Amino acid sequence: GVRAVQRLGEPQEHQQHSNRLIQEGEQLIVALRTQVGELEEKLLDQNQEVERLRSELGATDLEKHLELLVVENERLKQELKACKTSLLQEAPPPACTTTDCPHSQVWVRQLEESKRHAGEMQRQLEESKCQAFAAELCSLRILRYQSRSPAPHLSLSSPTLSISLSLSSLSVQYVTEIVEVESTESQQAVAEAQAKSVALQEQLSLQRQLLRELETQLHDSQRTSTQLRAQILVYEGEMERAQGQLEAEMQNLEEEKNRVIEEAFIRAESEMKAVHENLAGVRMNLLTLQPALRTLTCDYNCLKRQVQDFPFMLEKAITEAKQEICQVIGEVSSANQELLRKYKREMNLRKKCHNELVRIKGNIRVFCRVRPVCRGEHDSAENMVSFDPDDDALLYLSNKVKLMTFELDKVFHPQATQEEVFQEVQSLVTSCIDGFNVCIFAYGQTGSGKTYTMEGVAKDPGINQRALRLLFSEVTEKAPDWDFKITVSMVEIYNETLRNLLGDIQGEKLDIKMNPDGSGQLYVPGLTEFTVQSPEDINRVFELGHMNRATACTNLNEHSSRSHALLIITVAGVNSSTGHRTQGKLNLVDLAGSERIAKSGAEGSRLREAQCINKSLSALGDVINALRSRHSHVPFRNSRLTYLLSDSLSGDSKTLMMVQVSPLVSNMSESVCSLKFAQRVRTIELVPNIRFRPNSFSNNEYEESKEMAKSHPRPIPTQQ
Ligand code: ADP
Ligand code: MG
Repeated sequence: GVRAVQRLGEPQEHQQHSNRLIQEGEQLIVALRTQVGELEEKLLDQNQEVERLRSELGATDLEKHLELLVVENERLKQELKACKTSLLQEAPPPACTTTDCPHSQVWVRQLEESKRHAGEMQRQLEESKCQAFAAELCSLRILRYQSRSPAPHLSLSSPTLSISLSLSSLSVQYVTEIVEVESTESQQAVAEAQAKSVALQEQLSLQRQLLRELETQLHDSQRTSTQLRAQILVYEGEMERAQGQLEAEMQNLEEEKNRVIEEAFIRAESEMKAVHENLAGVRMNLLTLQPALRTLTCDYNCLKRQVQDFPFMLEKAITEAKQEICQVIGEVSSANQELLRKYKREMNLRKKCHNELVRIKGNIRVFCRVRPVCRGEHDSAENMVSFDPDDDALLYLSNKVKLMTFELDKVFHPQATQEEVFQEVQSLVTSCIDGFNVCIFAYGQTGSGKTYTMEGVAKDPGINQRALRLLFSEVTEKAPDWDFKITVSMVEIYNETLRNLLGDIQGEKLDIKMNPDGSGQLYVPGLTEFTVQSPEDINRVFELGHMNRATACTNLNEHSSRSHALLIITVAGVNSSTGHRTQGKLNLVDLAGSERIAKSGAEGSRLREAQCINKSLSALGDVINALRSRHSHVPFRNSRLTYLLSDSLSGDSKTLMMVQVSPLVSNMSESVCSLKFAQRVRTIELVPNIRFRPNSFSNNEYEESKEMAKSHPRPIPTQQ
């Protein structure tokens, strides 16, 4: 389609070109008309000139002739007019734009006509010139005859003019005459007429030239028109071809369209069929769905009502639940109060029961630990110490002569581990969390294993470390309800002198004083109390104590065997909910060696040491005796040791005596002594009716203690 439009555009250009040619032709016609107009004006001038000449000459027969000429002139004018009108009529309408241009033929015709007119006019012009000339001659002759004034010599050398005027309607008189004119005026008139004639001839040649130009232009336009026509024909042919192609394409498209429509129709028909079938199925479904929809709608409405009611119900339920919860909380809190009250009561009861149990069992207990034979110790009598497999409270000592049986609260055989020993004492240890005061003593001769049991070795610590660790962990477990504080002090008593082992000043001597607050409590001014806040602190305490003790003496082993080492642990707690306060004290004492020195016969400082040890151990025995026998007076003041421990030995306090025994035959007699001491301590209360040495408890404590010191090593007869 686009290509066809482009081709149609080319003939349009040709049409424009031909239009332009037509316009040019029209312009030519207008130019010709103006020329014709100009010629008319000249003719008019000529007539006027003739008139003038006639008036000058006066009218005779010449005048008549002139009149005839005028008439002729007039006729020519008429003819010219008729010619103009015909030209106007035949002129092409300016709006004409036809392409096959029949007007160009008309122009040619018009042009030829106008040429003809121009030729005619020229001829008439020449005729009129001849007439004018003849008239002039006549007038000149007339003038020569009439005028009396001497006329200037005039010799007219012009040839004899023969003017032949052949007009169809008029008959003109031809006069051939040779005239000699000598009049100046006539000469002048002739000259003027000649000049005019020359001018007219020039105009005529110009007109002719113009005509020729017009002719050439016409030829050009005709040629162009022919070319254009040929081009138009070519374009028309192309257009026809394009149209033919277009039509063929249209035909193809039409066929394609029909085919597609047909296919679509067939498809649509089959689809329609399927849709109809579906529709039928859907209709069936719809019929079955309708009742379901009805029930659903019903259910939906029900649910909607319920949902609408739900917030109110929920609010109501929440309010009720809140009330219930508040009520339950109230009940629970009152129940809690009741439980707390009961718990407190039970706790008190438990303590009472415990006290009762301790009282029944005796709050002083005696254990025995037999150390193993160490490597390098060659002992002949391996079976000096023997144990009862059925009763762990019995120990047998035998020499070649006799067998001695000792009954204690518990006997540990040499293979007993530190852990096993500690398990037996740990209830005692933890009771100080409940506010009890506890004393654990290691008693025995030097080398029997006292220090091993209390301090232990680095890899296998003894009661001291284990007790402190246990207390710390127990206290930590109770942390949310209880706020506990554990403080540790370390002292030694050497030659009845108390020394601070954790202080900054090494071996600083301390005094035991009565508390000035009137509570009857003792206190030690300047005693260092180390607060334990972490397991690392426990290690630090023992390291520091050991270091202080080692640097204070030259030989630690010797020194330690002659002094009492005390680890004092205080556990103070506050119950965060009840505000209940407890304070317990655990005293772990590694006593000086209990061996008798009489044998060695020591003197000086050795003797003094032995006397001091004897005194304090005797005092301890006496105090325990007095306590178990429930004496009104207990001789605490007889030694520094008993005095310092007085608050931990009296009242609800608990005491454990760990009697250490060496298995060596060479230590036989000392072992017997130690066991006898243990037996004596233990059996005091078990025979309540027997007042054991009642006179030993006099008011004079010092004297008593001396007595005790003397009597201490004395073996107590066994029960059996
Ligand atoms: P003491 O303090 O009574 O003078 P020690 O505790 O120093 O006696 O013990 C003396 C030696 O016997 C030490 O070498 C110690 O390691 C060892 N010993 C004591 N008891 C035991 C035991 N139960 N198991 C192994 N070795 C022991
Ligand atoms: Mg020791």
